Amino acid sequence: MTMLKIIGCVSRVAGPLVEAEGGQDAHMREMAEVGDEHLVGEVVRLQAGKISIQVYEDTTSLKPGAPVYGSGLPLAVDLGPGLIGTIFDGIQRPLDVLRSVSGDFVGRGLSVPALDRKKKWHFKPLVKVGDHLQAGAVIGTVQETSLVEHRVMLPPQMQGKVIAVVAENDWTIEEDVVVIADGDKEHRVAMLQRWPVRQPRPYLSRESLDEPLITGQRVIDALFPVAKGGSVAVPGGFGTGKTVVQHQIAKWCDADIILFIGCGERGNEMTDVLLNFSRLIDARSGKPLLERTVFVANTSNMPVAAREASIYTGITMAEYYRDMGYNVAVMADSTSRWAEALRELSGRMEELPADEGFPAYLPIRLAEFYERAGVVTTLSGGRGSVTIIGSVSPPGGDFSEPVTQHSQRYVRCFWSLDRDLANARHYPSISWTDSYSEYLHDVEPWWAKNFDPAWLAMRNRIIELLQKETRLLQVVKLVGPDVLPDSQKMILETCGIFKNGFLQQSAFDAVDMYTLPAKQVRMLKVILAFHDKGLEAIRSGVTLEEVRTSALRTAILKMRFVYRNEDIEQLDTLLKVTEGFSLKAEAV
Ligand code: ADP
Ligand code: MG
Repeated sequence: MTMLKIIGCVSRVAGPLVEAEGGQDAHMREMAEVGDEHLVGEVVRLQAGKISIQVYEDTTSLKPGAPVYGSGLPLAVDLGPGLIGTIFDGIQRPLDVLRSVSGDFVGRGLSVPALDRKKKWHFKPLVKVGDHLQAGAVIGTVQETSLVEHRVMLPPQMQGKVIAVVAENDWTIEEDVVVIADGDKEHRVAMLQRWPVRQPRPYLSRESLDEPLITGQRVIDALFPVAKGGSVAVPGGFGTGKTVVQHQIAKWCDADIILFIGCGERGNEMTDVLLNFSRLIDARSGKPLLERTVFVANTSNMPVAAREASIYTGITMAEYYRDMGYNVAVMADSTSRWAEALRELSGRMEELPADEGFPAYLPIRLAEFYERAGVVTTLSGGRGSVTIIGSVSPPGGDFSEPVTQHSQRYVRCFWSLDRDLANARHYPSISWTDSYSEYLHDVEPWWAKNFDPAWLAMRNRIIELLQKETRLLQVVKLVGPDVLPDSQKMILETCGIFKNGFLQQSAFDAVDMYTLPAKQVRMLKVILAFHDKGLEAIRSGVTLEEVRTSALRTAILKMRFVYRNEDIEQLDTLLKVTEGFSLKAEAV
């Protein structure tokens, strides 16, 4: 238990911001508890006998004169077995436990531990007496869920020689499982460790990115891929599909661990995800997807200060699993609501506002957040990654506003959601003209080695066709379609097939909702082969109309629904048929 001492006395309450007189004993960024209800907060400013505290709970009943207690410690999270499958609030209080303690609403000042202190976990030690351990060394494992083996590590600042180890057995997270000696100091190590959320966890070195995060979403994997360890911003106006994209990735991407931070969005959306996730089965393992997912939920009806913290709470847990050697994907939906929380708190502190009322440090905070993505060599010599995918909801869909603009400076991949596509019910509405990925060359060798040496060439051909299409459509707009020769109309035709039969992807169709790489490359090949064969036919005198009405075209348009990920042989047959496509021959 932390030792509390009185550090001040409340003088003013302004929503989530509390000011107190005192401060001689206060520390910047220490956790504080305010009033008799012990509302949880964090010291955010110390100035001439005044303390400002950002309070993570409803402050309505707080009165001047109430005591403020300091903990001397920064805002930190529990790390250990039991995180997976749990829904936490912005300061890592488990939501279902809170509900059962306090009724339907999150109770105030309730200090519920993030991880169950009584539950026993089956710990298998991996070290023996006499071993010399470096900081971060894996000392044992716990099967946390059927999908995740939890690797219990020495905390980052601790090293030494093992002088005692427990036997393989069931232990709580607070019981000592290993004792190490470092010189004349002795450290008792339990499965539980704590880490301050605003401080990135240490690693040995940063590594270059060389593998895609396979999302199963074709427009992403094929056109605008993100590397494991990369960062993406997904801006889009209301209803353009940001949340659906994030959910799709959380469900189907090939990360080992998912951290979903629901930040300031509607509460019913979060309920939807949870219900949804509890039913979903991982295609690769056959196990429930919940068993690799951690949720942080700070929905719009929850205190605004905790929303500011939720991003850090989430990313710290992500780094912890990265340090075990896992690939972790973090979804933050939405970073705009987080920035708005920052703006509100800054306003309450009467700081000088910059762009659109956001504090001047908004860009720094965004940079610090996205910098926590990366592939690293962990302290114990393993390799792990954190990928960050943040949605941005610019008011009125105007991408020139500060959060979109600053995010774009710090990410290397940008999935720009397009209002016109969404209106036309072309989902995912990721624009192929405004989006980009700077990870193409990082992930290309992976695709070449595992699937197809021509992957990047195919991708670039498609992009080139789409660019030609844009120009041709401008011509058509000016002078009508009749002036175009059939060979150019074939480009429009192919792009139409590509958009309907490849880029569009239903999140709700059992077959279409995710596409494995093997199916994706075949689909690309089929469409490009159809383009080549169509052009060939046109050159030999066949009309575009005949190409358009061929049965093959219909089969290609439907392949995303018809062939399951496992139906590779049938797709290969379709490819053969396409490559042998000849209307002359058909007509004979
Ligand atoms: P946002 O988070 O940007 O406000 P949502 O992600 O909630 O928007 O999407 C709004 C609606 O768009 C969804 O409820 C759904 O009907 C539709 N939609 C978005 N993406 C898809 C998709 N891939 N497949 C089918 N429908 C989609
Ligand atoms: Mg949304």
